[in-house]
Amino acid sequence: MEFQSTREETSSHYSAARVIKQGLAEDGGLFVPESIPALSYAEIEELRHLDYPTRAAKILGKYLTDYTEEELLADCRAAYAETSFRGGAAPLVALSDTLFSLELWHGPTAAFKDMALQIMPRLLSRALGKTGEARTALILVATSGDTGKAALEGYKDIDQIKIAVFYPENGVSRVQKLQMQTQEGKNVYVAAIKGNFDDAQTGVKKIFSLPLAAETLNEKGYFLSSANSINWGRLAPQIVYYVSAYCDLLNAGKLNLGDKMNVTVPTGNFGNIFAAYLAREMGLPIGKLVCASNENNILTDFLRTGIYDRNRAFHLTMSPSMDILISSNLERLLFFAAGAARTREYMRALSKDGKYTVAPDVKAKIDEVFCGYFADEKVTAATIHDTMRDYGYLADTHTAVGISAAKQYMTETGDKTPMVVASTASPFKFAADVYASLYGERPGDPLAALSMLSEKTGAEIPYPLCGIDRRTVRFSDVIAPENMLDTVLAFADK
Ligand SMILES: *Cc1c(COP(=O)(O)O)cnc(C)c1O
Repeated sequence: MEFQSTREETSSHYSAARVIKQGLAEDGGLFVPESIPALSYAEIEELRHLDYPTRAAKILGKYLTDYTEEELLADCRAAYAETSFRGGAAPLVALSDTLFSLELWHGPTAAFKDMALQIMPRLLSRALGKTGEARTALILVATSGDTGKAALEGYKDIDQIKIAVFYPENGVSRVQKLQMQTQEGKNVYVAAIKGNFDDAQTGVKKIFSLPLAAETLNEKGYFLSSANSINWGRLAPQIVYYVSAYCDLLNAGKLNLGDKMNVTVPTGNFGNIFAAYLAREMGLPIGKLVCASNENNILTDFLRTGIYDRNRAFHLTMSPSMDILISSNLERLLFFAAGAARTREYMRALSKDGKYTVAPDVKAKIDEVFCGYFADEKVTAATIHDTMRDYGYLADTHTAVGISAAKQYMTETGDKTPMVVASTASPFKFAADVYASLYGERPGDPLAALSMLSEKTGAEIPYPLCGIDRRTVRFSDVIAPENMLDTVLAFADK
């Protein structure tokens, strides 16, 4: 299996290891597989009897053909071990006969980013060997909260890799800050930046673009790398849990092999839902993909009109991981629906005018698979409340956006196909908003909200968030953006 850029027809080919190491193609495009491997019914029949790590290794093996079966199985077993995913990697919970929640947040940071970030560092570490790379990869991350912690947990103590994470001093929640400051691992570094998320992001981008930084790091035996959600190494592992959910529906007798399921995904960068699209293209019987957005409903508009227009107000919502106006992974869908030449045009228009319109044939292709719905803040809060009332199920703010979209779709179309909603975060990660939605009053202290929510609902606080205020703070540096490079160089010397 070889990979190519979304922005050129076929000229360059890359191995999976190279793609995972490199992240982005030279022409600014994203890496996509040159063809989509098939998943037969016979294979699904086999997969349904296997555990999650084995399902994962088999599916990843279709894309990462330069990794051996043994390597992939060892990495998947380590990544999705019971010790980090207590209660299973991706359990499917039935809310009703037709509505299911695919819980992707049982990992070490209680959000779905763990599903990819627990395995991707292991794949990168192997990619260094496969590409003959002797230097150590130095991962730099600017984070507005969740990604930083998930990356730290994923990369900690992985061979030939170090990771430094920068977050805005006053731009993350108290829980998020504590999660990062108390991070364990020999190869990690965390600092707060005096400034906002943009300052942290700009600082990281500047280090990536400075030739002097690359040279100095090279002399020290390092090269820079990123943990972006556009890396193929983050996307591929996300295909697995859709296949796994289908297997679980078969095993529960909710479907017969060949029957369709629908899938709803609370969407930000379009990575998670694109993985579902790939599963469908591989042959997994998926009917519709419902793209769920919050008030930042640029994707709802795009799927309804064919016009992607980022010239609009940006809203801060209670589902912050979906507060996004540029969904980078959408470029991968454009490639499959429109081809490389038109994708290049659309991306050029997006960076020049902040806007593009897809051709009618492209829109028609996308319409066959996708539809878009959104939930504003009021609807999201009401959905959290009603989901508890109607099913006794505790949904986080992102999942509630998904459940709302799924219900809008089912009501509007009358489609009775079983619907799987990707549940992307533990409700305890957004405990204050969930509590307020359920009981009409907001806990004053975000840490106290965790135990208040647990006491009222009887649900257990997930282990990554338990006793977080009692852990030892290891990282308390607060630095000015102009000192980021020096800080990174000093970390490299450690
Ligand atoms: C990242 C994230 C999303 C959005 O996923 P994309 O792949 O960016 O579309 C949704 N919910 C939560 C909790 C997340 O952390």
